[in-house]
Amino acid sequence: MLGSVCSHHSWRDQREDAHKSLGRSERGEYSARMIHVGIGYDVHALVAGRKLILGGVEIPHTKGLDGHSDADVLMHAICDAVLGALGEADIGHFFPNTDPRWKDATSIVFLQEAARQVGQRQGKIVNVDATLIAQQPKVYPHIAEMKKRIAAALGVGEKQIGVKATTNERMGFIGREEGMAAMAVASIEF
Ligand code: MG
Repeated sequence: MLGSVCSHHSWRDQREDAHKSLGRSERGEYSARMIHVGIGYDVHALVAGRKLILGGVEIPHTKGLDGHSDADVLMHAICDAVLGALGEADIGHFFPNTDPRWKDATSIVFLQEAARQVGQRQGKIVNVDATLIAQQPKVYPHIAEMKKRIAAALGVGEKQIGVKATTNERMGFIGREEGMAAMAVASIEF
């Protein structure tokens, strides 16, 4: 029947049916809500004399990540994934590392800002998934707390947040414990 004339179901009816599944924009136009996906990646160097903050959790370690803010590589990757799903510029655009306001700032504020931008578009975060790549220390015992803090910063439930960790099999700068990396994806309905 697709594409053929259906006498008892006019094009008007079909349009009405279609509109039932569509949202209405502020201007009163019909527009479909869609799922948008974003990707984020970040890397920071490991240095002595810095706290190690990952996913908002301070983890005891001999070194910490270097950076202008608290250098929470995991939250930074997640922030870029959320901003990317909105088609926005990256974290450095909104929080330049030349701005003294963000010196040693908790990265929770970056996620809060990304979530605010989602809300501004009447969007909803569907889920976030992230992977931390670090040779040391073992972060598994801290993952539940990281999820809790990431979820709180984004204003979503913990079940919407995935956090995983892997080593780099002792290869490259991560394997030599010179730095850590993180990647993330976010899906947002708006
Ligand atoms: Mg960063």
